[in-house]
Amino acid sequence: MRNQDLVDRDLSVLWHPCTQMKDHEWLPLVPIKRGQGVWLEDYEGNRYIDAISSWWVNLFGHANPRINQAVKDQLDTLEHVILAGFSHEPVVELSERLVELTPPGLQRCFYADNGSSAVEVALKMSYHYWRNQGRPAKHKFITLSNSYHGETLGTLGVGDVALYKETYKPLLMEAITVPSPDAWQREAGESWEDCAERAFLAMERALEQHAHEAAAVIVEPLVQCATGMRMYHPIYLKRLRDACDRHGVHLIADEIAVGFGRTGTLFACEQAGITPDFMCLSKGLTGGYLPLAVVMTTEAMYQAFYDDYASLRAFLHSHSYTGNPLACRTALATLDIFKQDNVIARNRRLAEKMAEVAAPLADHPHVGEVRQTGMILAIEMVKDKAARAPFPWQERRGLKVYQHALRNRALLRPLGNVVYFMPPYVITEEEIEHLGRVAAEGIDLAVRD
Ligand SMILES: *Cc1c(COP(=O)(O)O)cnc(C)c1O
Repeated sequence: MRNQDLVDRDLSVLWHPCTQMKDHEWLPLVPIKRGQGVWLEDYEGNRYIDAISSWWVNLFGHANPRINQAVKDQLDTLEHVILAGFSHEPVVELSERLVELTPPGLQRCFYADNGSSAVEVALKMSYHYWRNQGRPAKHKFITLSNSYHGETLGTLGVGDVALYKETYKPLLMEAITVPSPDAWQREAGESWEDCAERAFLAMERALEQHAHEAAAVIVEPLVQCATGMRMYHPIYLKRLRDACDRHGVHLIADEIAVGFGRTGTLFACEQAGITPDFMCLSKGLTGGYLPLAVVMTTEAMYQAFYDDYASLRAFLHSHSYTGNPLACRTALATLDIFKQDNVIARNRRLAEKMAEVAAPLADHPHVGEVRQTGMILAIEMVKDKAARAPFPWQERRGLKVYQHALRNRALLRPLGNVVYFMPPYVITEEEIEHLGRVAAEGIDLAVRD
């Protein structure tokens, strides 16, 4: 089979995610035959470094032998069973491990089967908690500008990506949106920390004003990935935890993208030394193999729902594939690799290498900034460097980088004007050097008029 054969069949029956399908009249779809480590290979033997971890999910490479073995073993034992009224070993073992690994105080695991659903669970649980406490007026959510929490109606409502949200506005609940501590928006001479402290003042005011009606604040700790890898100083999370406690508002940490080592620690919240009331995990949870998500919460939260059935205080929420055994076994194999290979420590060298290859780009006349948090590195292309003015989105400069990278054995998928690396942790230093070269050439091409 040739690439084109599969592409033709695909385009006659599929409708792809997050895609204007008409683009594929001129932008070739890439059919992948197999994956091995960081490499993806098409039907004609062309190979691509998966620099974006297949949408931020893959941690230890494609077709990882250790994870493959775990899936195979589980497959012959139990592929799936209902989780209401029933239980199984992988889900119990995974929950024990997660309770141990996540910040202290997160002691209960509620499963879902994708990130958006996990966020929905946290939102519903938070509101329901207050309702069970006799405070049904606390039904609003506070969110940050430029935040992203998923694509379902509930999660779009607490997100702030105009491109995804504007069309559906009449269908969405209205959140209270507070300016992001995003360090890209810092003032001249301001440090990341000062920028976060300044942004926090607006959050403090919002909490003062809305605590009586707010159930929770929801944030993506340290990196707002979907809106261009916008990063901020951990002091913001420390201040936020403290303020949420003072005002009696829950804190939801959406670590769906940043969890499992992306920011340099296993969980981003660790860098602020905080425990949120809810932590949402998905994406890397199964090493990028299978859909699974979990909401971690406190014993106090759990107890607020624990009562006689007729009290109607129970959390009656479920998804068909909640806590799927294959997915849980995959997650356990992923956690084993973290431990056996001392991954967090080993990643430091890779993060340094990423910084090293991208550093020269900081001087590029059309690069506004190179920023990094752990294993996420972003390069912001700008039209005017001094004014930090972006290229208009209609020009689709990032797409030119994407196309250049594909011609040069790399999958880079810029977010608007932001080129980024978020690779699987099995990438080598040589492969990072290759990404650095491809990104630099791609940016050179993309910023030309
Ligand atoms: C991807 C993502 C989600 C949504 O997860 P899905 O599995 O795609 O529904 C939510 N929050 C953040 C921060 C994400 O990056």
